[in-house]
Amino acid sequence: QCTLWCPTGAITERQDTAKVLAALDNPAVHVLVQTAPATRVSLGEEFGLPPGSIVQGKQVAALKALGFDAVLDTCFGADLTIMEEASELLERVKQPEHSLPQFTSCCPGWVKFVEYYYPDLMPHLSSCKSPQQMFGAVAKTYYAAKKQISPENIVSVAVMPCTAKKFECQRPEMNAAGVEAKLPAVRDVDIVITTRELAQLLKKRGIDMNGLASAEYDSILGETSGAGIIFGVTGGVMEAAVRTAYHLSTAQDPPDSLLTWNPVRGLQGVKEATADIPGLGTVRVAVCHGLKNARELLAAVREKKAPWQFIEFMACPGGCIGGGGQPRTSLPPTDEVRKARIANLYKLDTALPAKRSSYQNQEIRQVYQEWLKEPLSEEAEALLHTRFVDRSNQLTAKR
Ligand code: SF4
Repeated sequence: QCTLWCPTGAITERQDTAKVLAALDNPAVHVLVQTAPATRVSLGEEFGLPPGSIVQGKQVAALKALGFDAVLDTCFGADLTIMEEASELLERVKQPEHSLPQFTSCCPGWVKFVEYYYPDLMPHLSSCKSPQQMFGAVAKTYYAAKKQISPENIVSVAVMPCTAKKFECQRPEMNAAGVEAKLPAVRDVDIVITTRELAQLLKKRGIDMNGLASAEYDSILGETSGAGIIFGVTGGVMEAAVRTAYHLSTAQDPPDSLLTWNPVRGLQGVKEATADIPGLGTVRVAVCHGLKNARELLAAVREKKAPWQFIEFMACPGGCIGGGGQPRTSLPPTDEVRKARIANLYKLDTALPAKRSSYQNQEIRQVYQEWLKEPLSEEAEALLHTRFVDRSNQLTAKR
């Protein structure tokens, strides 16, 4: 295993399809699966469709045909992340003793990069877990209680565009549901497979995705907003967070200019934007993808010359749509492939006109009413937030 997990999957790639098949063949367990935002615009490429083809419904149908007991959406986890992360941003901006700028923390490749090379800047990382891990913690607590299944008897699978997510689910602290149930061996997410591995599984079981009728995600934990969907592109987390920060600060829906926030869109390596949010003032943000670009911004933060309150970092060029677990119609992925995937995630966002923002997701409202109370509550902190580890000494030891 490489020291710094390779976000593009070029250095190491572990196969986990056999574990999924073993779980599916075990009638004693409830096997649920979550699918990341980015896989719905890439899986089709493994079945001969053009880059970026939207296969959301066919992917759900294919997973049901494989035998999963519930097919759920990581976008629900993304909406939860936004509720927590936007609330954290408001706190940090209003209370200057907190470290600003706030850094996003949903990309495990980026988080590990900070832990190894910039541990002095870890206080800037949002304490929010990634959508995958928030989803996992809620699945084995709230979902398990609602469905009356013991968390021990749930196998939680994630389909991700990302090889770093395999490492993330194994981090020792990612067992919040197990701690709550006094079953510390229970992991929040048990198995992560990449988009390519899902395609292999479908082919192995003789499932022709193209021939299936589209199906809907199951409930609960299957609903998304448009904001949850655009998590898969560079700038999408920032845009999603600012939509909800606007609402949290004003109790109003954000203006159209923030629902299509062009300054944070596109493949430019570093993007900057400002948003005027009543009650919060002018919020300056930056968006960065690729770790080389990250170094420039981090140098400014270290020198205390960073003018931003919030920065989104993604390790992979283009964000998760360009992740190391994605289909390799071209290697490395070209910008044309990336742009096709990005365009269709934005299309899915605008296809939900009454639900562009995370706070408009009814299942999100429900989980707060029934389980978490409110963002940053004691319950939310225990399940949805995490801590980071200074790994710089491991780096020195290996040299
Ligand atoms: Fe994984 Fe997305 Fe980060 Fe790439 S950008 S390492 S795919 S989380």
